[in-house]
Amino acid sequence: MILKHFKQILLPVDVRIHRNALENISKAVSRYDLKNVVIVTGILTNKIAGIDVEKLLTGSGKCMTNKFIVKTASREAAKKIEQEIRGDFGDYDAVVGVGGGKILDVAKVVAYHSNSLLINVPTNAAHDGIASPLASFKEKGMPISIKAASPISIIADLDIIRKSPVRLLRSGYGDLVSNLVEVKDWLLGVQKIDEDYDEIVASISTMPAMLLLRSAEDLDFRDFDYLKLLVRGLILGGLAITMYGTSRPVSGSAHKFSHALDYLRYGKGTHGEQVGIGTIIMEYLHQHYYGKGDWELIKYSLEKILAPTTAREIGVTKEQMIEALVHAKNIRPSRYTILEDQNPSRKDFEICLEKTGITK
Ligand SMILES: [Zn+2]
Repeated sequence: MILKHFKQILLPVDVRIHRNALENISKAVSRYDLKNVVIVTGILTNKIAGIDVEKLLTGSGKCMTNKFIVKTASREAAKKIEQEIRGDFGDYDAVVGVGGGKILDVAKVVAYHSNSLLINVPTNAAHDGIASPLASFKEKGMPISIKAASPISIIADLDIIRKSPVRLLRSGYGDLVSNLVEVKDWLLGVQKIDEDYDEIVASISTMPAMLLLRSAEDLDFRDFDYLKLLVRGLILGGLAITMYGTSRPVSGSAHKFSHALDYLRYGKGTHGEQVGIGTIIMEYLHQHYYGKGDWELIKYSLEKILAPTTAREIGVTKEQMIEALVHAKNIRPSRYTILEDQNPSRKDFEICLEKTGITK
């Protein structure tokens, strides 16, 4: 039995990232023989795309839909939908998530627990959760991450995503560019503690960010070509998680820093904004200790799209920044990163924050 040595993974079979992509959803009815579909959406995202998705699915007369509008995305919200469906709707074949990351997380959990197909229709591109098999929620103020379904199909309509708040697109870029430093951390784990490595997965994680950095000069997500590169990169990031089986290819020291800010409840940055600033810091440290990286180019690209590059912009003081950086080592200590390898002191962090202009 040689098969036992291989990893079996579930990858989507239909991924569309272009303008007017939404109409492709109607083809899902015959492609997957859908008769009963649950739509999970939010109040606003229902107006943006949920109503259209419903029309497109029911248009042929072969498919019925049951729509749930989620007010607050949580595990509880997912459980409520699961219970209601069980009560009066009978069997259903697919869950279609229409919304931002949080709504898609609820859809992922409902699909996972009901063992049904998942189709994701993202209405923004704020992080790499669009295609990942993990759902993140906040419980008692703390972020938690749980296993969930992988989508069979992703319909990313660029006309819809382009209209989403620009802050979310900037955040998406922050999350994407972090992959460069997170994979550098992974390589430290490979060299120092003999971790497994997968060059293909690492490439899937980092190449989209490299491509965007190469044209940092012209970066603008109002432009459909760049927007497509961003959305594709974030979807590939999620697939890297699926392929590797953990978030290792997209989450290291920059994410530990962001989680530390969340844990300490400092500031008001989004995930991607915090991770973007974390990337400047960790890239600086990689350059400082190992001579690898280009923190100035990363900072320049974030400035170019008007994403925050200073602590002040995300509402964090210099002292809080240092505290979060010191605390970051306590987040998931088994994940080896530059923080574990070099154990930088408060003074080291202070110098880094000054030199990178993050605290002025
Ligand atoms: Zn992330």
